[in-house]
Amino acid sequence: MASVALEHLDKVYPGGTQAVADLSLEIAAGELVVCVGPSGSGKSTVLRIVAGLDEPTGGTIRIGGEVVNARRPQERNVAMVFQDYALYPHLTARGNLEFPLRMRGLARDDMRVRVERIAGLLDIGTLLDRLPKQLSGGQRQRVAMGRALVREPAVFLLDEPLSNLDPKLRIQVRAEIQELRAATPTTMIYVTHDQTEAMTLADRVAVLHHGRLQQVSPPRELYERPANVFVAGFIGNPPMNLFPAVLAAKLRPDAGAAATAGVRPEALRVSPDGALAGTVEHVEFLGHETLAHLRVDSTDVRVIARVPGMPAMAKGERLRVAVDPARIHLFDGEGRAIRG
Ligand code: ADP
Ligand code: MG
Repeated sequence: MASVALEHLDKVYPGGTQAVADLSLEIAAGELVVCVGPSGSGKSTVLRIVAGLDEPTGGTIRIGGEVVNARRPQERNVAMVFQDYALYPHLTARGNLEFPLRMRGLARDDMRVRVERIAGLLDIGTLLDRLPKQLSGGQRQRVAMGRALVREPAVFLLDEPLSNLDPKLRIQVRAEIQELRAATPTTMIYVTHDQTEAMTLADRVAVLHHGRLQQVSPPRELYERPANVFVAGFIGNPPMNLFPAVLAAKLRPDAGAAATAGVRPEALRVSPDGALAGTVEHVEFLGHETLAHLRVDSTDVRVIARVPGMPAMAKGERLRVAVDPARIHLFDGEGRAIRG
């Protein structure tokens, strides 16, 4: 396992699309960094550049401290798993896992030991004699991950590896990735558009938007202290409620400046003497909680409040919610967080 350092990476595709812009990021050996962002934000491009499948138009890539810009993918000791993993259809799961080791001329016994160890970690030990067509989607995905890991790469790159799985399998494979990491520390860069995956798997999350790094933080800090309006609106489900605001003199010297205020749905509390009054426009009963979509009186501001359980609540109903001032986030005119 090795550290990865990206220094001022740029990627402009022929035709002029800037997919990555001045991106710098250091990943420690053994760390799992999840790159998250909407579709088209440059996540796959970053990963392909680290793998050596794509060339940056500017910047430096270091693996284990060494500049690898000029090295071919095979010379970088990285393994990559894509969303559309392709197993060799005519080889069993075992054959697929052995394939990269055969290519390296590993001795038969060494090969068996490595394959069984990885198969045990990914819980596919009993499936080794099956062909890919005899495996479920989740099982195939685990074999694909095993095939990448069995090489013991310095860096493991995953591009939306769980996107093709149904939600239940996704949770299962997510848990397996965590176990795998506990058993064999590996440097991983994991790309996803799914914030739940980012929050549950990452040591640190790197948020990308239009090819620019917005924030790199441990999941908890990302949620509690979003660096800007984009991160505040992207992380959290439902996302943070954001409204236009004007800074008051008490808060800042630049009183009167335009700003944005944000409050998470769970920081709003239904209460008869709440400061915000509005009309319920829409109710989502989720079982363990209810999401009340509220339009604030005499504005077009809409907020979502998270209410525990399933209270009786209907469209058209009048509701008051209280806001805890300590849980209000403020952002300046450029969208940057104002730290109180
Ligand atoms: P993500 O993985 O976050 O969805 P990508 O890295 O695939 O984003 O793409 C980032 C941007 O670069 C997008 O605007 C995409 O259309 C563009 N792009 C990706 N690959 C190419 C390519 N081979 N040629 C031109 N533009 C590309
Ligand atoms: Mg992608």
